[in-house]
Amino acid sequence: MNEQTLSMRLERVAAQVPVGARLADIGSDHGYLPVALMHRGVITAAVAGEVALTPFHAAARTVRENDLERQITVRLANGLDAIESTDGITAISLCGMGGETIRDILESGKARLNGRERLILQPNGGEQPLRQWLMDNGYRILFEEVLRENRFDYEIIVAERAEPVTYTAEELYFGPLQLQARSPAFLDKWQRRLRQKQKTLSHFAKAQQAVPEATVQDIARQIRWINELLTTP
Ligand code: SAM
Repeated sequence: MNEQTLSMRLERVAAQVPVGARLADIGSDHGYLPVALMHRGVITAAVAGEVALTPFHAAARTVRENDLERQITVRLANGLDAIESTDGITAISLCGMGGETIRDILESGKARLNGRERLILQPNGGEQPLRQWLMDNGYRILFEEVLRENRFDYEIIVAERAEPVTYTAEELYFGPLQLQARSPAFLDKWQRRLRQKQKTLSHFAKAQQAVPEATVQDIARQIRWINELLTTP
């Protein structure tokens, strides 16, 4: 992967960035996403935010080597602190981090959101608490996708502020749009998850130390939901 050839995961994220956007890519690492989008003429400006020094330097190098220093600003900052009101950001990408981390970045950076940005999120796990945060904060999910690359299942969630929306517990768990679309990648992912959770439950049964009943019940409920999903035509 490089700034010309993105991974399939980042390519699918790139497809959700509106033409003409001013993008803040938070946790940008190498900065490939904003640089690729700028080269393709999709975005007009970007901020690449990084909290860690090594990826911050990597992003700065990618931007410099592509001669995009006037269009892409690289900032060493925690989460949404990378965004300044004068940046006029219209889209924010947070990719390749746990869903809880993305949620915490959004929660602690709330004051930096103007409410008009499109959020393009690619959590690695923790999708349920992330969707919960979106619902609790007045965001509607506009697009969801599950994809598999290098033996990993990835999810992409795109959201914008809208009139309040209520998702059911199952919708928060599986994704409201995924539940409707039931794509082959989505169903394959949940087939695999079902096997993992069944294994976990049988390990619990054989465990030397008692597993808290609430934990057992939680896994059993997830298995019930996944079974319902996979057996409903
Ligand atoms: N976004 C890129 C992608 O999807 O390929 C890089 C993903 S990399 C696994 C996660 C990056 O997020 C790391 O470079 C890490 O330093 C950065 N990161 C984690 N927490 C952050 C935070 N609070 N603020 C900014 N960057 C953060």
